Amino acid sequence: MRMNAQQAVANVEARESNSGNFKKLGFFSLKEKESKRVIPLFSKAEDTEFFSVHQVKMISANGKEYTIDVDCLGTDCPLCKEAVKYKDIQYPAKPQISRKSDAIYMPLVSVVLNDEGKYEFEFLPWKRYSTFYKNTLYPFYMRYAGVKMLEIERADKKTYNLYEARSDEKGNPYPEFNIEEIKKELNIESDDIYGRSDSLAKPWTKAQMETYIMNPNTYPPAESSTQSDVPAPTDDDAPEQPAEEETTRRRGKHNF
Ligand SMILES: [Zn+2]
Repeated sequence: MRMNAQQAVANVEARESNSGNFKKLGFFSLKEKESKRVIPLFSKAEDTEFFSVHQVKMISANGKEYTIDVDCLGTDCPLCKEAVKYKDIQYPAKPQISRKSDAIYMPLVSVVLNDEGKYEFEFLPWKRYSTFYKNTLYPFYMRYAGVKMLEIERADKKTYNLYEARSDEKGNPYPEFNIEEIKKELNIESDDIYGRSDSLAKPWTKAQMETYIMNPNTYPPAESSTQSDVPAPTDDDAPEQPAEEETTRRRGKHNF
């Protein structure tokens, strides 16, 4: 459909003003030696979400490869059976379907002090694996349950350190952020991580997994009987970057 520049701009503005309803989510990530400050949206390590997931490959409309997480069905999981075929694929190559791994999803809001001296917020869940939970998150929260601000540092490729952050990048003590307002502003919902077709860990049915295996790299259609109100994500809805890369998603610039 041809449209003029004015319409194009209006469309972008409409999309931006509607960004709170924008369900695409990026993951929190750090480069080596980098650290970021975040508000953890949980007060105990046990309150984070755990899923056994497969990573399956997708190809976006513009030909970019990325992976999504699909919840493992456990017994009789078609993805478990299929993943065996790719067991010899060596890193950094990625299998079409990975074996299941126990992932932990931590809801975080990153907080960045911008040049104008205002805090910018972005909802960025963080995905790690069970070793991180056992060796880092759990021991940290045993000591600092209810910590309000965290600084997360990536010391090297595999090591992440957690610290309590009491002051921002300029050394100012953090104000008392209104978490409920931040959640509302960023449209954070309980099923962002699991429960919808566009949640981070996708709740595919057995039939949807079988469809993916027959027709890889694309989203299987939602099943009309169980998910009639959830449209199948199209390529347009798919994140265009691998989950590991940083993306800009739900942001707010207000002072709370
Ligand atoms: Zn499985």
